[in-house]
Amino acid sequence: MPRTSDPQQQLMITPSEVMEYLYCPRFTYYLNVLRISQYEKNRYKVLKGRQVHEQRLRHNKSYLPKKIPVLKKEIDVYLADPGLRVRGIVDEILYLEDGTLAPVDYKFSPFKESVYKTHKVQMCLYALLIERTYGRPVIKGYIAYIRGGSKTLDVDITEGMKAHSQKIVDDVFDIILSEKLPEKTKSRVRCVDCTYKNICV
Ligand code: SF4
Repeated sequence: MPRTSDPQQQLMITPSEVMEYLYCPRFTYYLNVLRISQYEKNRYKVLKGRQVHEQRLRHNKSYLPKKIPVLKKEIDVYLADPGLRVRGIVDEILYLEDGTLAPVDYKFSPFKESVYKTHKVQMCLYALLIERTYGRPVIKGYIAYIRGGSKTLDVDITEGMKAHSQKIVDDVFDIILSEKLPEKTKSRVRCVDCTYKNICV
């Protein structure tokens, strides 16, 4: 079952967990079925400190292009939808002039084309959460890469993208509910530095 003790959240996963699945399906098995954390304990404080620093950076400066017609925004919004089986915190929700809403996700890593594809899935899950919670359309999302020279990319939220993202959520739940060890990632280079390489046969 997913890693949470809150019964309200037991049948939901986060977009970050979907990202882990996309990196390697076995991450889902080790994390969500066997519940083996990928982080050593002593990394917790380092990560926490970085989070605080990053939050300050984010709130102190607007990284979004001025041309985006924003009427108002909400920051760090927790959303959960048991029907979608997804929960998570959206960095920002923008209220746009055309009546639509748009999620913003800040990435503290430089832009990389290969990772951008999985970030689009994550963005689409945020879009679905917003649509279902607010009852308003989401047709765009924004990913702001704020390290290594900031760069903001917009993502079209299409019906095809939504169906694709929901299918991925289904695939993650197939592993969690069946508790079956999935195939390894096809990109074996990822195994070199993987936390689980010693237990992954
Ligand atoms: S060692 Fe390779 S196959 Fe196993 S979990 Fe890590 S990345 Fe996936």
